[in-house]
Amino acid sequence: MTDIALNESLASSYDQARERLRNALESAGRAQDAAQLLAVSKTKPAAMIRQVWQLGQREFGENYLQEALEKQAELADLDGIVWHFIGPLQSNKTRSAAEHFDWVHSVDRLKIAKRLSEQRPTHLAPLNICLQVNISREESKAGVLPEELEALAREVATLPNLNLRGLMAIPAPAKGIEAQRQPLAALREAFTALQKALPEAPLDTLSMGMSDDLETAILEGATLVRLGTAIFGARQTA
Ligand SMILES: *Cc1c(COP(=O)(O)O)cnc(C)c1O
Repeated sequence: MTDIALNESLASSYDQARERLRNALESAGRAQDAAQLLAVSKTKPAAMIRQVWQLGQREFGENYLQEALEKQAELADLDGIVWHFIGPLQSNKTRSAAEHFDWVHSVDRLKIAKRLSEQRPTHLAPLNICLQVNISREESKAGVLPEELEALAREVATLPNLNLRGLMAIPAPAKGIEAQRQPLAALREAFTALQKALPEAPLDTLSMGMSDDLETAILEGATLVRLGTAIFGARQTA
């Protein structure tokens, strides 16, 4: 594809993704500002991020630290860009995440949260945190189990350089609204219960919904939907 054709197709995918979100909010009877779009740009070049930023997008999600740091360096001139780390985070990588991101959505154990808080530079605002929940209870998948969530959240809420903002999940893939609905509803219920249990915590973010289940996630109360393929196109599988 020529650059111009690529630009046109990216602009039209981005418009369509925004329209999907608008329509989903409307069908769910929710306000148009009730959910935000996170553009998931993993494996996609910095030039595509720059173009989507030019179309008005500010929130971007990345999964791989090294790749993200390289793109951030190329995009350092983009005002107002907000970086979300949404991939698995090992303890030896927490420093880069704490220094170079505004959000981390994939915290599922206290050790990682403590390191992020210790390593967050004090001249930056507190790091925004979503706890990742293994909502479909899949073996060997990332995420805290629902029954362990409240205890973890209570500890994370005490860490000084973090803001506990909400929950994130990647449910097991399912086709059709009914099958998709159950884990998303379970995450919403866990979120509501946590808001009651921790009334002091700034819990306002339910990070769920991807390209295949955006509409269902919006029906179930998502406040941040994470769209990759729908905006940037299919990813090369490694
Ligand atoms: C890749 C990824 C997404 C985006 O998935 P799509 O199906 O491409 O929209 C969302 N969330 C997480 C955590 C991801 O890793």
